[in-house]
Amino acid sequence: MTVFDNAIPAVANLDPDLLKTLRQAATDAADEGVKFYVNNGWRSPDYQNQLLRDAVSKYGSEDEAARWVATAAASPHVSGDAVDIGHSNATAWLSEHGAKYGLCQIYRNEPWHYELRTNVIDRGCPRMYADPAKDPRMQK
Ligand SMILES: [Zn+2]
Repeated sequence: MTVFDNAIPAVANLDPDLLKTLRQAATDAADEGVKFYVNNGWRSPDYQNQLLRDAVSKYGSEDEAARWVATAAASPHVSGDAVDIGHSNATAWLSEHGAKYGLCQIYRNEPWHYELRTNVIDRGCPRMYADPAKDPRMQK
């Protein structure tokens, strides 16, 4: 799917400001031949909980799973405030130009995960967390 797929809940249920900004960036990137794909956008709480259960079995412990997957209560995907972008030319484009739009990579271990930080457009994105487990928002 792309950021323009209105019929898909993962895209349509994103925060309206995030979606608008993503579409603006995607339109500009398209001029340079780069296409944004959405690998994950909004997720239902049930789906997020399923992902967490899967991660616990994959990584063997809740602590290790927390480095990759948030709880439904904490996940910015469930609130519609995060998007996982592909392919690598799109994430490369965003890592170069995203800050101008307020689109920031949040976690060093997730180069595909972007959120909107409109207060940083003039001074660049905040320092990344090493992984989601280091994000204070995840302590719930
Ligand atoms: Zn993500």
